[in-house]
Amino acid sequence: MIMDRPDLKRLKNPGGFLRRAVQVVLCLAVSAVAGVMTFGAQETASQGTGWTSPLRYEIWVELDNARKMLWAREDIVWQNTTQDTVPDMLFHLYWNAFKNEKSTVLQESKQGSNLRGIEVKDGDWGWIDVVSLKLADGRDLLPTKEFVTRDEPAHEGDQTVMRIVFPEPVKPGESVSLKLEFESKVPRTILRSGYYQDSYFIGQWFPKPGVYQEGVGWNCHEYHLSSEFFADFADFKVHITVPEDFVVGSSGKLTSVTKDEANKKATYTYEQSRIHDFAWTASPNFIKVERDFIAAQEVTPQEYEDTARMLGLAVDEVKLSDVKMTLLIQKQHRSQIDRHFKALRTALKYYGLWYGPYPYETVTMVDPPYRTDSGGMEYPTLFTAGTAYFPTKDVLSPEGVIVHEFGHGYWYGLAANNEFEEAWLDEGINTYSTGKVLAKAYGPGAMGFGFNGIPLNWFIPFPKGYDHEQNRAAAINIVEYDPVLTPSWKFYSDASYGLNVYMRAATGLVTLERLLGQETMARVMRTFHTRFRFKHPTSGDFIAVVNDVTGKEMSWFFKELFLDTLNFDYGIASLRSEEKQKHIRGVFDVEGKKEEMTGKKIKELEEKESSEKGGGGPKSGDTGKTYVTSLTLRRFGEARVGKEAPLKVLVVFEDGTEESRVWDGQARWIKMDFEKTAKARYAVVDPETVWLIDSNLANNSYRLKAVRSGVWHLAAKLLFSVQNFLQAVSGLM
Ligand SMILES: [Zn+2]
Repeated sequence: MIMDRPDLKRLKNPGGFLRRAVQVVLCLAVSAVAGVMTFGAQETASQGTGWTSPLRYEIWVELDNARKMLWAREDIVWQNTTQDTVPDMLFHLYWNAFKNEKSTVLQESKQGSNLRGIEVKDGDWGWIDVVSLKLADGRDLLPTKEFVTRDEPAHEGDQTVMRIVFPEPVKPGESVSLKLEFESKVPRTILRSGYYQDSYFIGQWFPKPGVYQEGVGWNCHEYHLSSEFFADFADFKVHITVPEDFVVGSSGKLTSVTKDEANKKATYTYEQSRIHDFAWTASPNFIKVERDFIAAQEVTPQEYEDTARMLGLAVDEVKLSDVKMTLLIQKQHRSQIDRHFKALRTALKYYGLWYGPYPYETVTMVDPPYRTDSGGMEYPTLFTAGTAYFPTKDVLSPEGVIVHEFGHGYWYGLAANNEFEEAWLDEGINTYSTGKVLAKAYGPGAMGFGFNGIPLNWFIPFPKGYDHEQNRAAAINIVEYDPVLTPSWKFYSDASYGLNVYMRAATGLVTLERLLGQETMARVMRTFHTRFRFKHPTSGDFIAVVNDVTGKEMSWFFKELFLDTLNFDYGIASLRSEEKQKHIRGVFDVEGKKEEMTGKKIKELEEKESSEKGGGGPKSGDTGKTYVTSLTLRRFGEARVGKEAPLKVLVVFEDGTEESRVWDGQARWIKMDFEKTAKARYAVVDPETVWLIDSNLANNSYRLKAVRSGVWHLAAKLLFSVQNFLQAVSGLM
């Protein structure tokens, strides 16, 4: 999902704009498994069917455009791959979040600290009803159906999680086959699903089992306002029936089309193995454009070699496959077709090279149906982008969204962490990797400020910046609200959720990259992705990979920056340079007598020493004097660097010489003295800005004379201007 950047078009409604400026918009034939009730059958997942996953769906769905309804049948085969005996099954029924104001989503949207006031107008509700649920042998499970709400705080009356009980528990290794019928009212677009006029975006729409975790049970959270999803990898075959003039786009690969001329309908069948969700869209207003990503044309042999060397892999291991790219775009956005494909090819290339080849044959990008508000969202092998009315090259829209949403295919899609519980593993990692791809392919972009859709940078030269600069500026004020690692629905507000899991996490990862070096970080990311593709990694798994690849114990980094709410801020408290006194005033014992050294005597001594030294006075640059420079560094924040990662300190003197030292950063402050023949010009702590996450870069450098601004001031200028803006905004949260 994307988290929209502040958009000045909302200035039309200034209160609304400020309130929303940090708004998180966010972002089989089963019958072939003959038998079909296979308790005790010990079948393997793919036995005789070509299926590869222990979970399989075949769904027949018809869109009723006139009544805004879906009529569907769904066959599910689930194999118990754990050592537990499983008595029941929990299903997500996400669209019941839009059924009435008792839903968890609508209750959460009214809570004080949330900015997203989600309102459903009369008549716009959506819901899903399971009207039949049987085992394949005909035994009826519907009487056991109940809705459960297990998350805290409880939202009684929510109907987004359904539980059923099996007549006999499913033993380890056994499979269960279920036959469901469900009907759904499509909501007027809300949380990226729904309809506007004849255009539909259908996501999170079918009854979907939670994830069974051995020894724990079903992981099946309610639909929350600030949360995305979690599901098991599965094989899908979905038959979608729509009015014949509709253009359909879907997860997976189109395997057949049948027309029903008499009823003016068409049925499209899509299939895909090893994905954990399935979304589709239908509208008579799409133009469908198909192009090929041909790896041999996109990547040069040299690029393969460089990548392999960087990652420490063989060239064969980094080779990419060809991919069929499909774009469904609104007719009025026709002029942006090339821009869409260029961005997608860029994403396929760099995500593929850096993190691992894209493993599916197809990818579909959707320029969402007008006013369905379904842009900027990821689904397996399909994502939605979104275009501005007046696209401008500087703002990297739609490029940024395309790279970001495609990129989710790697984290949310292929690694598939639990987004309810550890959203940063998807959004944070993906925001970090989006920034890297965009920087590589496009260089810095301007922030997307606009007024009524017209980009403000047509008129005002907004500073351009890399994503990591913009992310940092947005993230540094949010630390005190929540740790990055917080269950999605337990954040202080949806703004805290968004700024923490996207931008603060991404800023932490850029910091980690600067600490480890680009090559090591590239290997960390590659190893994490390769090791956990088609698994469900946790934050602990990520940290273990960092420790593994670096050969260091780096857990402190995550403890300080991700698991707590500690502000990170090192800086310089004071810098002074004073001439060293050769002679000291006062009374001294000299050969048994008390002698006073007076100011007058010192002056005379110094004049004498000076004339003895060179006659013609000091040589240029050598005043003959010695200066003591005294530097005091402080740890203004609670967060600490690890002892293995001391802070660098640099002092530059007026004669152009420099001196570097390190500080382990553990105490609250340290004083350092330097004895030189020149005064200090300025001092900088962390001169390479390794610690991008430092919340106040202004105090990182200190200049004795207020003359030309230093390099660090220039580098930080953009960060400050953006930061000030966001500070003003975040004060309203
Ligand atoms: Zn996202």
